[in-house]
Formats: sequence, C-alpha cells, structure tokens
Amino acid sequence: MSQARFASCIPLPLEHKVLVNVIEKAKDWALMHGVGMRDKKHFTKDAIQIAPFVLLPSPFPRTEFTKAIELQTVLNELMHKVAHNEEFLEHTLQNALQVDEFTANLYDIWVKVRNEGITQPISLGMLRSDIMLESRCPHTENQCAKHTPYCSWKQVEINSIASGFGHLGPVSRDIQSYILRQLNRGDLIKNMPENRALSGLCSGIIEAYDLFGIPSAVVLFVVEEVSYNICDQRFHEFEISETRPDIMIFRKTLNEIYEETELNDKKQLILDGHPVAVVYYRSGYEPAQYPSSREWDARLRVERSTAIKCPSIHYQLAGTKKVQQALAAAGALERFMGSSAATTRVRDIFTGLYSLDFDENGERAVEMAIADAERFVLKPQREGGGNNLYGEEVRDALLRMRHSRERAAYILMERILPPLVSGYVVRPGAPVPPQVVDLVSELGIFGVIIGTKDKIISNRQVGHMLRTKLADADEGGVAAGLGALDSPYLI
Ligand code: ADP
Ligand code: MG
Ligand code: MG
Repeated sequence: MSQARFASCIPLPLEHKVLVNVIEKAKDWALMHGVGMRDKKHFTKDAIQIAPFVLLPSPFPRTEFTKAIELQTVLNELMHKVAHNEEFLEHTLQNALQVDEFTANLYDIWVKVRNEGITQPISLGMLRSDIMLESRCPHTENQCAKHTPYCSWKQVEINSIASGFGHLGPVSRDIQSYILRQLNRGDLIKNMPENRALSGLCSGIIEAYDLFGIPSAVVLFVVEEVSYNICDQRFHEFEISETRPDIMIFRKTLNEIYEETELNDKKQLILDGHPVAVVYYRSGYEPAQYPSSREWDARLRVERSTAIKCPSIHYQLAGTKKVQQALAAAGALERFMGSSAATTRVRDIFTGLYSLDFDENGERAVEMAIADAERFVLKPQREGGGNNLYGEEVRDALLRMRHSRERAAYILMERILPPLVSGYVVRPGAPVPPQVVDLVSELGIFGVIIGTKDKIISNRQVGHMLRTKLADADEGGVAAGLGALDSPYLI
C-alpha cells in the first residue's frame, strides 16, 4: 500500500541555477528577518544562524484547515474547564504520579497553593493544538470517500506551556512568499492563509497585564539557561514593546527568579522593585529545567503569587499526555461539554488513545501494542520533543515494563500517517542545492483563553504554525534539529 501524496505547489525539481540562486537569497532574507536560531554546536550569544526551512509552502486541504481554525475556541474552553476540574485532574493523574516524579512535583505545587488559597483566580492560556492529516481512511482501504489523499486530521497533542513559534509561524509565510515572488510565482501567495499568531499571542499577555491593573507592574518571561529558540522568544518581547511601550519585560531563569524575587505581604511577586503582573513560561516544562530544589522553590513562589501565570500549574497539568488520553475515553468529553455537536467534533479529532494503567483496558492495550508495535507511539508525560518511542522501541519498552508500575506514566497512541509531499529543506551548513525529499507536516493552531474557574473573559483563535519533517523521521521538532519551518498552501 503506497502512502497518499499531495502534488507540490510548483512542479519539482527546480532548475539547478534557479534553485541555487533562490536559496542564496532566501538564506539572507532569513538571517535579516529573524528566521533564525542559535547554533547548538558552536554556541555564542553573538550569532544567529538560519533556522531550517522548507523552500515552498506545503499543501494542506482548505476545508480541513478551516475546520481546525474553527474548532480552536472549543478546545480552548475544554482545556480551561479541565484545568479547573480538580476531581478530574486528580483522578486522571493519580497512577502516573506514583511513578513520574516530575509530574508529581508539579502536582504537589498545585495541592499546596490550593490548600493555602488561590491568590490569583485568573489564568492565561496560550495553547497550541498540534494536528496531522491522517491519510488512511477508516471507511475504505486507502482512500477517503471524498477521494482525496487524506481522510481528516487528528490531534497529535495540545500544548499548554511554552507553545512556541508565534513569530516563526508567521515569518515562515513571509519567507516563502518572498521565495515564490523570486520564482515569479507570486500569484500563488493568495493560497497561503494570513497568520497573525505573534500579535494574537501577545494580545493575550497584554490583556492579562491590563486585568492585573497595576500601572507600574512588569511582565516576566521565564527562560532557559540558554535560549536556542531566541528569535521566537525575543520577537514576542519586541511586539509587546511596540504595541505597549509602557510594559517592561524581564527575562529570568528559574534560578534567577529564586535569587531575585520575593513575595510581599500582599503576595505580589516583586522583581526589581515592581510587582509582576504576568509570568510567561518559555521554560519549566521538563525535568532538566529544574536541576535543583531552588528551581522548584521558584516555581512555587510564582504560583503562590498574585501574578497571572501562563500557564498556571493546573493548566500545565491539563496539558499532560495522560489528560489527553483520558479525554478520549468514553463519556469524558460529555462531562465537560455535554452531548453537543461540538462534543462530536472534538471526539472526531482523537485518534486511538489508550491508558496503560493496571486494569483490564491497560492489559488489553499492552497486548495490542506488543503484537503490532508499528501501529503505535508510546508517550511519557513529557514535553519538548524527543521523548516518545516508536515501532520496535514500543514493543521493547512494553515487554520491559509489562509488570512494572512504571508503565502507568505512559500513554499509548495510534500512529498517524500523514500524506507525503516532495520538497526542498534548506538547513544551515548543508550542501546547496539540497535533494528533493519526501516530507510530512504537522499544523499547530494557537489559542488564547483568559478566565477564572467560573468565568471566561476572552477566548480566541489567534494563528497557526506549520512544521515539516522528513517522511521517515519519527519526530519533527525544529529546535531539536529534525523539523523545518513551513507554512500551509491551501488546496
Ligand atoms: P511533545 O510534547 O514532546 O512535542 P508530541 O506528542 O507532540 O510530544 O510528540 C512529538 C512528535 O512526535 C510530534 O511532533 C510528531 O512529529 C510525533 N508524533 C507524536 N504523536 C504522534 C502520532 N500519534 N502519530 C504520528 N506522529 C506522532
Ligand atoms: Mg507538547
Ligand atoms: Mg508536540
């Protein structure tokens, strides 16, 4: 069975001279417009290198794109409700907490702040729902009844912390528009949907800042010791400072927050003499970002404070893989959304998701995956890419963990098989011109939601990003060096 395939927006290959010429221009365009990252191998703060990008935008069905855009506010609201449902989170995470220290540490902070009394009822969610087109249709052997090389899209995951690419998403459209113009195909740009992710995400931070309501307050970005994805982060700052020059932004690591902040008697988080209005985490989602108890103490201090957190700790817990899996279980969505048409639309985006708990369902899932490992992805409660297991690794891991409680920290997910498209990937330091290769894409839709447990103040879809990787690669993180920036070409 051959994998379904889309036609590239311009027939490939391009003529050698044209290709070399346009790549040279595009690389300079990239460097001069922040399509960049810091070099992991030869790190210096003084240089940016191009981020890998796909030369031409990748095809994406217009109807499916529209469906994804339209569903985002429904997903935002669902996440908001899940984050505020203590009983559901507790029940869903209980087994994973026994064996996953990182999630347990987050959970402990949540329990502590709840017991002390929540000082800031407002949460800021800057979410990104990641999806892939599924090329295998369950209704027919290989083709959808619609006779398109895809059936519909499925959700890979939803991110509630450090949902990046608010800048790199829109700027990917800009660079590919420039490339199309250089190739005398500017007429195709009309098929690339507008993308205002950066201003949309920043509007969430600004709105939360205004809700905090103290004019001298500041915004705090929580960052890694070393930020490789620096362009994406800094452009958020630049955008806010242009729209709202009155808002001062600080970038601090968790360790610096430990050293440089304090809580005053009103539980305000004080930094450099100013109360912090909004804390925006671009770090804090993986164990390595908490090398000592100081980082955990800093996280607790922030969580105790009146600052509006993006995300608050319960939002981070709601974004775990385990919660995604639990939402796909029978009856779970109804609990949050009733039996509405929206509920059906959300259920349709879930591919097979299975718990590996020690019960009948868990046993069945283990047996199923051992028997047919290629069909699945095994996911721990982690973020940031590179943590999942595929194919043979799934079988090996499950054979090893079959009788160990460790397995409850994982979920099992059906592997999505997206349609292929041919394309060129431009990478820093790689030979020019590159070969034509087979690629697959993952679309991320951004959402902003602000509210308290009982009231949603704002809820909107704000833009998108597309990442594309080699068709035979398991994962496609751009910062991890596997994926490449891209944008959708609607067909
Ligand atoms: P993370 O939070 O680390 O980003 P993801 O669930 O997004 O975890 O998985 C990382 C990557 O693995 C995705 O970007 C995608 O490329 C691949 N992946 C994850 N789940 C699936 C799946 N069910 N089918 C196909 N690929 C997947
Ligand atoms: Mg994630
Ligand atoms: Mg992901």
